Amino acid sequence: MTVNLEDTPFKGNGIPLIDNKKEIFNYFDSLAAKHLIVLPSLIKNERMYKGVLTKMRTEFGSPINYYLNLGDESIHMNDLLGRPLQMNYAGQQCLNCGKDRKIYRMGHCYNCFYELPQTADWVIRPELSKAHLDIEDRDLAYEKEVQLQPHIVYLALSSNIKVGVTRKTQVPTRWIDQGATSALEIVEAPNRYLAGVAEVALKEFVADKTNWRQMLKNEVAEEDLFEFRDKLSQHIPEEVQPYFLSENTDKWLLDFPVHKYPVKIKSLNLAKTPEFRDTLVGIKGQYLIFENETVFNVRGNEGLVLELTT
Ligand SMILES: [Zn+2]
Repeated sequence: MTVNLEDTPFKGNGIPLIDNKKEIFNYFDSLAAKHLIVLPSLIKNERMYKGVLTKMRTEFGSPINYYLNLGDESIHMNDLLGRPLQMNYAGQQCLNCGKDRKIYRMGHCYNCFYELPQTADWVIRPELSKAHLDIEDRDLAYEKEVQLQPHIVYLALSSNIKVGVTRKTQVPTRWIDQGATSALEIVEAPNRYLAGVAEVALKEFVADKTNWRQMLKNEVAEEDLFEFRDKLSQHIPEEVQPYFLSENTDKWLLDFPVHKYPVKIKSLNLAKTPEFRDTLVGIKGQYLIFENETVFNVRGNEGLVLELTT
């Protein structure tokens, strides 16, 4: 192949006419496409990762650190802020059976979702837990291990104030995943069932859902978590009262790595838009936030096979 330098972004002596790296790369891309040459992405300092999406691992800090595991790699997502990312859809793969079946819910195919102990109803609705009664749902050994350990009932501010339940070992991961900016533990129960009973009672007076659009726009209600806890104390059921943390003064504050919050949110569905490219400007909850106000829910897309170019 011969290239006429007159047609290139270079002068005859090889000095670029344009000093915009991107334009030069674009030129080589178009040249490569014309001549069906695959340019090694190393030339562009780009790296390609491919793997099945699972929720980002996080580390508490100021700001919070996010890591995405793809294939054998762990990508520190904070390092990619301010840089363009390309995401390509490359299929679906169940997190349990590994088959390329359509993902039904929570990263699992239909069959696995209705068989596995970790996707049973009590996971979403803790009050349905029965391991403390020695009653099996799907796998008693698993249920005992997960349910019969300290659980926290908390108040958190992600958009409006909300109540929730998590295993104590999931503090503060659970709040990071929700995009809460502050949180307060109000009950520490010895098992999942009792925490669930408290949550059900408190749901009468406080929301149990996050408005994810408001959370991403950083529209957070100004509420006093301590005041709310004191108001709710009378509604904590009798059997949970001994575990009420009426004196707890440790409020958690969470600092997310976001350079720019979106005003109008567009949600990315990679199965429908299999190619996406834009600059990453923030990470909050389990969402990637892009410059053009598109957001991508990593957790909501578990099981999707992703090609990521950074
Ligand atoms: Zn499966």
